[in-house]
Amino acid sequence: MLPIHPTDTTPLFHSLFEEKKLEVAILRLDQIHCEISGNKFFKLKYNLEEAKKQGKPAVLTFGGAYSNHIYATASAAREAGLASIGIIRGDGMDSNNPTLIHAREQGMRLHFVSREDYRKKNSKAYIDQLLSQFGDVYLIPEGGTNALAIKGTADILQKKHQDYTHICTSIGTGGTFAGLAKSLLTHQNLLGFSSLKGEFMRAEIRNLLHESGITSKGKWEVLSQYHFGGYAKWTDELIDFIHWFWSEFRIPLDPIYTGKMAYAFFDLVRKNHFPESARILLIHTGGLQGNAGFTKRTGIQLPTP
Ligand SMILES: *Cc1c(COP(=O)(O)O)cnc(C)c1O
Repeated sequence: MLPIHPTDTTPLFHSLFEEKKLEVAILRLDQIHCEISGNKFFKLKYNLEEAKKQGKPAVLTFGGAYSNHIYATASAAREAGLASIGIIRGDGMDSNNPTLIHAREQGMRLHFVSREDYRKKNSKAYIDQLLSQFGDVYLIPEGGTNALAIKGTADILQKKHQDYTHICTSIGTGGTFAGLAKSLLTHQNLLGFSSLKGEFMRAEIRNLLHESGITSKGKWEVLSQYHFGGYAKWTDELIDFIHWFWSEFRIPLDPIYTGKMAYAFFDLVRKNHFPESARILLIHTGGLQGNAGFTKRTGIQLPTP
């Protein structure tokens, strides 16, 4: 349905990898599509197909004012010939940030709701109210995770990736992790780094896999100590790392997800977490659209593609 620009893995070279006898590569999902980048491409593709199959005129979804999911959904819906509605958390004070300007340019209708109302986003009564307000729309949950999203993220790992022994990804809602877990082969290990603070993520992932009927052939683990203070929180150390990574590899990272994942990966390499001869694949899940808004908010420059 949507054009896909296939990306091969890119090898990463560093003296530390040589020292530890590791082979490392990165899968640049950030380069898959100029606007529907990263994991959001995979999470949206079957959902938009389904929306069209059901004859829905529009999709409706939820997100924060800087959301990668809102940005991607606005572009993908437009490309699929569907209208889109974004229920945005907050009072609209941020409504002229680069993410929402883009969403509006793609024709997304933005509807700002209080944090209190936003919290009701999964309740039946609130959803019914939205449906009566916005008509017969196809609903996509916050962050885009549902069964069809997981069907999509299961397409990320392909036959050509079968020789990797370790796959590293970041976690928000876990939809990407669940799809990767589904495609894992018996000799493969999946490491997920939660961008949220708290030890709850491991149990949440277990539930998500269970609900989705996924029993992974490989081994998976969730690491919860690399959140840098919590979702969308950051430290100078994280920002320095993102600049260092750019200077070493010329690959831009974002401070919400991929920066934390790559930082965690290097930390684990230094701590000898990976066995000798491991072949490691880092998943660059995208998120770079958010860097412009981050700079606007904080005044801190970040590498951009
Ligand atoms: C949304 C997002 C994630 C989190 O994906 P989930 O499927 O919600 O876990 C990770 N990285 C980037 C760049 C994202 O935009």
